[in-house]
Amino acid sequence: MAETNCVVAAVQGMPPTLDAILALGTNMGNRVENIDDAVRRLGADGSIVVVARSELYRTAPWGDTDQDWFVNACVGVQTELSPHELLTRCQAVENDMGRIRTRHWGPRIIDVDILAFRDRQICDAILTVPHPLIAERAFVLVPLKDVAPGLTIGGKTLDAMIGALDASDVTRLR
Ligand code: ATP
Ligand code: CA
Ligand code: CA
Repeated sequence: MAETNCVVAAVQGMPPTLDAILALGTNMGNRVENIDDAVRRLGADGSIVVVARSELYRTAPWGDTDQDWFVNACVGVQTELSPHELLTRCQAVENDMGRIRTRHWGPRIIDVDILAFRDRQICDAILTVPHPLIAERAFVLVPLKDVAPGLTIGGKTLDAMIGALDASDVTRLR
């Protein structure tokens, strides 16, 4: 795969026990059950071991705000998969749970994104890591802080990024 010229921020402070951090989101059906189901499915074939889970958060829709509220969470995983293999597994979970892509940033039964993969910086046509919109999304930053409180992205702490946003619509669910 040819690399593009895009530049992504550097990640520091990944917990040494984690290979990657995934973000999960859902705003259709039983959202809490969907997150639990996705976590179960991610671990099902043994190639991914979920070793850390954030709290669950009820969040307002972002980007396309004309849709129902979300439940968001993050998980920390251990894996020997490559970043692209991990993405393929995440997309298999989305597809197996019946995700249908309608409009961009539209309603979804489950979304699984790779937020960070060790200290890797990846930017090609299929995968951008760290995920380029982390700093703009309180619904990602708040659960991310649960699993990797010492993480910095582009030299910024999670608290600094959260402080620059309105996080009032991200509330802990359980
Ligand atoms: P966003 O990426 O802004 O959160 P989204 O999650 O709604 O939007 P999707 O339709 O789920 O977007 O994914 C579109 C494509 O994004 C995927 O097919 C995948 O190739 C690509 N992609 C690039 N970087 C990542 C990443 N870090 N994690 C997940 N998908 C990624
Ligand atoms: Ca997403
Ligand atoms: Ca996605």
